[in-house]
Amino acid sequence: MLEITNLHATVDGKPILKGLTLKVKAGEVHAIMGPNGSGKSTLANVIAGREGYQVTEGEVRYLGGNLLELPPEERARAGIFLAFQYPVEIPGVSNVYLLKAAVNAVRKARGEPELDAMDFLKLVKEKMKLVQIPEEFLYRSVNEGFSGGEKKRNEILQMAVLEPKLAILDETDSGLDIDALKVVADGVNSLRSPERAIVLVTHYQRLLNYIVPDFVHVLAQGRIVQSGGRELALELEKKGYAWVAPHADEGK
Ligand code: ADP
Ligand code: MG
Ligand code: MG
Repeated sequence: MLEITNLHATVDGKPILKGLTLKVKAGEVHAIMGPNGSGKSTLANVIAGREGYQVTEGEVRYLGGNLLELPPEERARAGIFLAFQYPVEIPGVSNVYLLKAAVNAVRKARGEPELDAMDFLKLVKEKMKLVQIPEEFLYRSVNEGFSGGEKKRNEILQMAVLEPKLAILDETDSGLDIDALKVVADGVNSLRSPERAIVLVTHYQRLLNYIVPDFVHVLAQGRIVQSGGRELALELEKKGYAWVAPHADEGK
């Protein structure tokens, strides 16, 4: 589904990703772990096509095509969803309005008919149960005045409604108490499917107790320096990142 080869990327002219290679197949859940500032959010933003990130070398293929040629909105329509580390507030735009516009844009791109108000509400209420968000949230401005945990849940709701093929969750666990973490994890787990790939970016092992990944990768100094199964996350928790990070410059 996603094939990243020797990816180099800069932010404001500063090299951040320095030869990152990663393959993700449909049905898989990958965790990307790594020290602060190692480039995890940069990777997520480059895949989503966010402004300000320049790819200087390497390749990103998505469903067999060159992802880097697509503008961000086309990436979203092609089934890529990014849940941000810091979800944005959009005063004056209701949650329900944004969700409906987003879901119908994706349906249109897939050649499916748009949902009318009734069918949309049915879908969104079903998904709200899944992520345990009260219905009043629908009519509030997007993320405005939401607590950290509510914002994260709202991101999971967006993901549940949009049914992406490739979901990237950037530190969806940060700032969550244990109950909110479980709700978010249940929501993500309920979206696991053979047709969908999920990439979890996380600094801590904790989330991976609830969302058990198929693969764990360590990103350090702009590259994947170690890959393994779930046990790698447990080992990192015990030994810290210094255990793998010193190898980051090898082979340059
Ligand atoms: P992580 O998510 O792993 O903590 P980031 O991808 O956010 O790491 O950041 C990687 C590096 O890029 C850091 O050194 C950070 O300071 C730098 N960086 C990120 N965004 C910007 C920006 N907009 N301008 C300049 N430097 C940035
Ligand atoms: Mg960070
Ligand atoms: Mg980050």
